Amino acid sequence: MKVHNFYAGPSILPDYTIEQTAKALTDFAGTGISIMSISHRSKEFIAVSDEAQQLFKELLNIPEGYTVLFLGGGASTQFAMVPFNFLNKKAAYLNTGTWAKKAAKEAKLFGEVEVVASSEDKNFNYIPTGFTIPKDADYFHITTNNTIFGTEIKEDFDSPVPLIADMSSDIFSRPVDVSKYALIYGGAQKNLAPAGVTFVIIKNEMLERVQRPIPTMFAYKTHVEGESMFNTPPVLPIFAALQTLKWLKNKGGVAEMNKINVAKAEMLHAEIERNPLFKMTVPNKKDQSIMNVCFVMSEGNEDKEKAFLEFATQKGMIGIKGHRSVGGFRASLYNALPLESVEALVACMKEFEKK
Ligand SMILES: *Cc1c(COP(=O)(O)O)cnc(C)c1O
Repeated sequence: MKVHNFYAGPSILPDYTIEQTAKALTDFAGTGISIMSISHRSKEFIAVSDEAQQLFKELLNIPEGYTVLFLGGGASTQFAMVPFNFLNKKAAYLNTGTWAKKAAKEAKLFGEVEVVASSEDKNFNYIPTGFTIPKDADYFHITTNNTIFGTEIKEDFDSPVPLIADMSSDIFSRPVDVSKYALIYGGAQKNLAPAGVTFVIIKNEMLERVQRPIPTMFAYKTHVEGESMFNTPPVLPIFAALQTLKWLKNKGGVAEMNKINVAKAEMLHAEIERNPLFKMTVPNKKDQSIMNVCFVMSEGNEDKEKAFLEFATQKGMIGIKGHRSVGGFRASLYNALPLESVEALVACMKEFEKK
């Protein structure tokens, strides 16, 4: 049976990435040894790391004056590294969900945190608007795509203070105006590579913002100066990330990918709206994520939740169970997920309705 992978993360990767990585497991770049067994300082691997950084810059149109880093520790380590490196007195945070809240919690260890707005009153089912970013904040932190709740900030807005974004689950899903951001970070396991590598895009002028001593590994400066090779980087996930970037370039880049992503999300949104058994958890179209589509059984049909999950599982849908803090279902439609998987899910919802 053909299976359709809707997991939220780690999640689907292009077949190309998996095939190329599988080959490199036995013979990497004609060296006769495995990508798992080669020195990160070998010329063959340095070439991989350099090309991945280059493609990052090219595909996201990153302007001069920024550095791309590949680090360990996951997005969760960035929650602490950001305030460690940038927070002197006060930082501003937008509270749009679990990950945003976790990021703000770490910042409180280093100074004052002003939460400029929150959508917690409605279980994070919308993106707050009309907030003011305090001009005296050292930076403003946002989570562009809220993986758990299915909301997304789809525009790059202006900020009077350095703008920092967690783009773990929507990086490369749409064109981004990187010049509006001081730093962008994310775990790679949503849209790029297997778990283990964390990307950071940092504006070089952000280095040395605080007086406090920072342990070497936690200072961005270390990694910018060391070109992501200060310590052993996650070699295999970086190799896989490069394969995904090559695949993405071959597909026409982020603008092309965005068109496909919007088409996939709209197809699923339309079925959820049409099918009387289901309803979106995020009511406002503008706020609905194109990466993670969260939906529940409609009023009066709550008792059919388990039955639909079982039915869909039998039909080859994998990973559609919603996060426990939302319930219902979540279909993650990352770049590598083909349109035919969305068609299969929609067909499955129609068939369940007939039953
Ligand atoms: C998954 C996720 C994280 C956590 O990433 P780790 O790499 O597991 O630390 C943080 N932020 C967002 C938006 C995520 O989707």
